[in-house]
Amino acid sequence: MKNRKILLTEKEIPEKWYNIIHDMPNKPLPPLHPGTKEPIGPEALAPLFPMELIKQEVATEKWIEIPEEVRDAYKLWRPTPMFRAYELEKMLDTPAKIYYKYEGVSPSGSHKPNTAIAQAYYNRQEGVKRITTETGAGQWGSALSFACQHFGIECEVYMVKISYNQKPYRKIMMNTWGAKVYASPTNLTEAGRKILAEAPDSPGSLGIAISEAVERAATDDNTKYALGSVLNHVLMHQTVIGQEAVIQMEKAGDLPDIVVAPFGGGSNFAGISFPFLRLNLEEGKNIRCIASEPASCPKLTRGVFRYDFGDTVGMTPLLPMYTLGHTFVPAPIHAGGLRYHGAGVVVSQLLKDKLIEAVAHDQVECFDAGVKFARAEGIIPAPETNHAIATAIREAEKCKEEGVGRTILIHLCGHGHFDLGAYENYFSGNLEKHEITSEEIEAALARIDTPVIE
Ligand SMILES: *Cc1c(COP(=O)(O)O)cnc(C)c1O
Repeated sequence: MKNRKILLTEKEIPEKWYNIIHDMPNKPLPPLHPGTKEPIGPEALAPLFPMELIKQEVATEKWIEIPEEVRDAYKLWRPTPMFRAYELEKMLDTPAKIYYKYEGVSPSGSHKPNTAIAQAYYNRQEGVKRITTETGAGQWGSALSFACQHFGIECEVYMVKISYNQKPYRKIMMNTWGAKVYASPTNLTEAGRKILAEAPDSPGSLGIAISEAVERAATDDNTKYALGSVLNHVLMHQTVIGQEAVIQMEKAGDLPDIVVAPFGGGSNFAGISFPFLRLNLEEGKNIRCIASEPASCPKLTRGVFRYDFGDTVGMTPLLPMYTLGHTFVPAPIHAGGLRYHGAGVVVSQLLKDKLIEAVAHDQVECFDAGVKFARAEGIIPAPETNHAIATAIREAEKCKEEGVGRTILIHLCGHGHFDLGAYENYFSGNLEKHEITSEEIEAALARIDTPVIE
């Protein structure tokens, strides 16, 4: 009988995180001070992050030991299963072999606890009492709330007001894990008060919520800040996914030709793909790693590679990345986790060097793909995840046209149980296509006034 699932034991949870920077032919360029535009060192991050995470942010060694307590917490849901998508293959009538690695089995329903647990651990080790963060759709806020509860740290989440009102269940999840959740902009910070004075009815934005969370951490000695994507250490923590997947593919007696993952800031893409890219860099394998982004926020496929701010206001260091400009406001698509103007530094450099690829999909194509997947395989994917499924279906159809049976690995990074409103919109035909015109992209890029990379 054929196996659908490829499972690992708890002993097979990775013991180290993989730091791809060690193997990159071109290392990432340094961050620049927002005022002087001079390179800054890691000490600039000290008010916001614990020392161990700052060290990891600038680490160049290839492997970093995962602390025993972190591995022990990972056992609550790791190793995660890999499935062979027999039903989807049948539905698509494709000669392609399709696999998916499922991170939706984590307590908060996505890959995000892989880094939340690690970050909460190092904060507790260094005596931090409270962690602040921002959340848009709520995936990151819930992962961090769970992780802080696990390690006995207070968690304070600034949730974009419009999401706070539209997604009450995400908020209740965070409350259940003991977090305080505020609808941002709030009256608790200078940044929030300033916005409210100008616009009392402001729906909030991720940029505003970041400003509030950072301000709280910067002005209180017992409080630090945590970010759920983009930064080097966050991407590295996620490599437990791909390391497991490499072993699972071996057990299945296969090697993927294509690895595909959705792309917001780059953490789940990095998590699944970096351990496969290691095989390309070390052993000369030729695995295509494809990042799937929304056509309405196409920083990888239509943005530029240059220095830009990580936030909307322009407070963070300048980072070398693919960007649409920090003032770019993406359309309100349902894949909230992919509505970010820039890409993580490491992933950006890899794309620049053509070691990875990127494609963009409209949200209607993504929901078509997600519903097909749910009807074939049972799992209802997160709207973000649907982007990777759309790419995989395109590739499987290409296999059919060409009569070639390639092996495709999809990163099923989260379930969509809190996103059923988006599916409802899709079924009622109210899902908008958000084609962005070349003029809009040019206008967004023309607004960037930060240093160009030669
Ligand atoms: C947060 C999130 C994303 C986007 O963030 P990345 O850092 O690019 O992974 C994608 N999918 C899901 C399910 C998420 O929760």
